[in-house]
Amino acid sequence: MLNKLNYINTLKRTILVVDDEYVNREILGAILDDYYNILYAENGDEALKLIQANEKILSAVLLDLLMPVMDGFKLLDVLKDDVRYRTIPIIVLTSEKQAEVDSLRRGAADFITKPYDAPEVIIARVKRIIELSEDRLVIQSTEKDEMTGLFSRSFFYEYASLMDRYHMDREMDAVSVNVDRFHLVNEIYGREFGNQVLLTLSGVIKDFAARNEGIAARGDADDFYMYINRQENYASLERAIYSAMESLSRSVYIKVRIGVYTCPADFQDVENRFDRSRLAANTLRGKFNQTVAYFDNELQHKVFYSERLIHDIHEGIARKQFEVFFQPKYGVEEDEPVLKSAEALIRWRHPEFGMVAPFDFISLFEENGLIQMLDQFVWKETASKIRYWRDKYKVTIPVSVNVSRIDIYDPEIEDKIDGIIEECGLSPEDLHLEITESAYSDNAEQLMSVVQDFRDKGYLIEMDDFGAGYSSLNMLANLPIDILKLDMKFIQEIHTDEKARRMVQLIMDIAKFLKVPVVAEGVEVEEQYRILKDMGCQLIQGYYFSKPLPAGEFEKLIKA
Ligand code: C2E
Ligand code: MG
Ligand code: MG
Repeated sequence: MLNKLNYINTLKRTILVVDDEYVNREILGAILDDYYNILYAENGDEALKLIQANEKILSAVLLDLLMPVMDGFKLLDVLKDDVRYRTIPIIVLTSEKQAEVDSLRRGAADFITKPYDAPEVIIARVKRIIELSEDRLVIQSTEKDEMTGLFSRSFFYEYASLMDRYHMDREMDAVSVNVDRFHLVNEIYGREFGNQVLLTLSGVIKDFAARNEGIAARGDADDFYMYINRQENYASLERAIYSAMESLSRSVYIKVRIGVYTCPADFQDVENRFDRSRLAANTLRGKFNQTVAYFDNELQHKVFYSERLIHDIHEGIARKQFEVFFQPKYGVEEDEPVLKSAEALIRWRHPEFGMVAPFDFISLFEENGLIQMLDQFVWKETASKIRYWRDKYKVTIPVSVNVSRIDIYDPEIEDKIDGIIEECGLSPEDLHLEITESAYSDNAEQLMSVVQDFRDKGYLIEMDDFGAGYSSLNMLANLPIDILKLDMKFIQEIHTDEKARRMVQLIMDIAKFLKVPVVAEGVEVEEQYRILKDMGCQLIQGYYFSKPLPAGEFEKLIKA
C-alpha cells in the first residue's frame, strides 16, 4: 500500500519550528531546510496561530518547552484537546529527561535533545515521525472497493487531503460520475449486466485519473469520484465513457452524469468539494442530451438557499410559518359539479423569502430527513380541520394528504396516522393518503406492505402523479390503490395533442375496468374539463375550479 504513496513521498512537506531562542531556530532551520518548507514561531501563542492557519498542510511541529507568553506544555495541552490538530505530530525539543517523559505523556510523538549535535539523527527522527503519522491516517480507512479495485471513498478522501497537503500549488478538479437511473439498468437488464456497466465505467475512470495525475474511487453503487489536475473540458472523458459503453452493448443506451467542482486555491475540506461535484452532477437529472455540469454561481446560490431552508424549518414550525392550503376536488359525473373532497398542500410563509412553494423544499427535506416532521404537522392540521368542519357544518369533506416516499420507511407511520385519526375522532376513510407513483418503483415491497395495512384498516389510497413514473399499464391491475390521480402533464396537452388524449382515454378505460375512480389534476381550462367529463372522469382538481386555498377560504366553499 505504501507504494501508492511513493510519489507524494518525494514532495516537500511543511513543518513548524517553535523556539524562543533565535540561535536554535537558525540551527534547526539550517539542518532541515533542504527537506522541508519551514514556518517559525517564537512562542506557543504565535505557534497556535500558525497552526490554526496552516492546519491542513502541517506535517509536524518541532516544539521547545520553555518559552515566554505560552510555553510548550500549555500548547501541547491545547493541541491534544482539539480534534482538528490531534493528528499533527509534535516533536519536543528539550534538554531535560523529566521534561521528555512529561511531554510524551501529554501527547508528544517524540523528542529531540538539545544541544543539536547530530544533524542526521534530527533529520531521521523528523522523517520517521511524519511517515508514521501519515501511515496511521491512511491505515485507518479501508483501502479498496472489492468489485472495481478503485479506492474506497474514505481512503480516497484521506489520500486526496494528503495530495493537497503536498501539492498546494496544483489546480485540481473534484469530479463525480454516476450512471443515470442505474437502478433501472439493474432492473431491466439484470444485475449481471449492471455489474459489467460498473466495471467498464470504473476502467475508463481509473485510466483517465491516472493520465491526469490523480486518483479515483467508487462510493455507493454507481457513484465514482476522481481527484485530478484541472481540465479544460471533459469532452475526452465523455467520449471515452460512451465508446466503452457502446462496446459493452450496442442495444442498451447508458447515460452518465459528470459533475465537476473546480477547486479554488483556498482550503475547502475534501468531502465538501465532492458534495459540490455531486450536486453539479445531480442537476443533470432528466437532461437527456447533456453529460457534464459544473458547480457554478447559480448552484452556489441554490446551496445557500437550501441550507437556509434546512436551517429555518424548525423555527418555521415553531412560529407557525407553515400553513396548510386546501384545493377542492369536484365530482363531475352529474350535470353540476359537486364539491367532493380536497387535497391538503403545504405552504411556507418565510419571513425573508415570502411565500415559498413546496417545489423548493419538499425534495430537499426528503433528502435531509426533515420531511417526516413536516408531513406529520400537515396530517394533524388536516385531520383537525376535517373534524372542525364536520362539527360546524355537519358534513364530512374527506381530504387527501401527501405521504412522502420517505415516510413509508418510518416504522411508526401507521401508529402515527392511526393516532391522529383517533385523536380527532375521525374514521380512516376521512383522511385519504396520496402516494406518488414513482415511490412504487423505489421500494416496492416495503411500500406494498405498508399500503396494504392501511387499506385493511379502511384508509383510501390515491396514487399521485400517475403516468409520470415508470409503472406499466398492466402493473396497474395489481397495485393496491383506491383512486388514481392522473399526472398533470397529460391534462395539459389533452385538448391540443391527440396522443395525450388517447393516452388518457386508455388509462380511463383500464381504470373503469378495474373499478378505480380517476382524479384529473391540473385542469385549467373549460376545454380540458369538457373532454374529461365526456371521457367519464369522475373527479377534477385544478385551477379551472379553484387554486389551493387557505382554510378560511376553502371553508366558504363548504358553506356554499
Ligand atoms: P401534487 O401532490 O401532485 O399536488 C398538486 C400540485 O399541482 C400542487 O402544487 C397544486 O397547487 C398544483 N396544481 C393544482 N391544480 C393546478 C393547475 O390547474 N395548474 C397547475 N399548473 N398546477 C396545479 P404544489 O402545492 O406546489 O405542490 C407541489 C408538490 O409538492 C405536490 O404535488 C406534492 O408532491 C408536494 N407537496 C405539497 N404539499 C405536500 C406535503 O404536505 N407533504 C408532502 N410530502 N408533499 C407535498
Ligand atoms: Mg398530491
Ligand atoms: Mg399530483
